[in-house]
Amino acid sequence: MSLDPITADDRHALVVAARAVAESGLVVGASGNLSVRRGERVLVTPRRAKLGAIDPEDCVEVALADGSVADDHPTDSEPTSEAALHRAVYAATDARAVVHTHSHFATVLGTLVDELPAIHYGLTAFGGPVRVVPFAIFGSDELAASVGAAFEGRRGVLLANHGAVVAADTIDGAVDLALQLEWLCSVAYHATVAGSPKLLSADDLDRTVQQSRALRYSLTEPS
Ligand SMILES: [Zn+2]
Repeated sequence: MSLDPITADDRHALVVAARAVAESGLVVGASGNLSVRRGERVLVTPRRAKLGAIDPEDCVEVALADGSVADDHPTDSEPTSEAALHRAVYAATDARAVVHTHSHFATVLGTLVDELPAIHYGLTAFGGPVRVVPFAIFGSDELAASVGAAFEGRRGVLLANHGAVVAADTIDGAVDLALQLEWLCSVAYHATVAGSPKLLSADDLDRTVQQSRALRYSLTEPS
């Protein structure tokens, strides 16, 4: 049994965050999914749901270990098809919230590069250069495993020909990271189309992290 049960407040916060993702234009149709972790339990958004119109009761509590649905799940909704991906991120990190989107520029960059170029110091919010994992079929264990591995020391990952995943301590923090990653990808795309952008060195990024610590900014390191 979890010592940190999922509450009605968690369900409400997840629905509010899902609506924010939809209203920010980070997803189209029924794409995208979110989750929060509480102890050994994970609350995920329901399969085939539009993120802007989810009933809190339809969010599904699953076991972190094997993805099994809680016995007392109140509706007939099913967990998102990417529940295994969310569980893999939690297994690889100590994050407590995950957001997966098909946001436009993150998806574009995922078709072009193997790693997000160091185009802006905001990249340090992700713990280092954001990796792009090879294409694998959505909802597959193969995709979940490669995403979990790519989260080593990171707060975000791009999925080739698919989208993006971010992880944070809170669901609001994860939504913010999803927006930041989309912005970084848009800057990288436009700068690359316009010419040959100057990129930051590893030393530039290290000194940015030091400055962020000195000024007590958050989200500069993977938790
Ligand atoms: Zn997806």
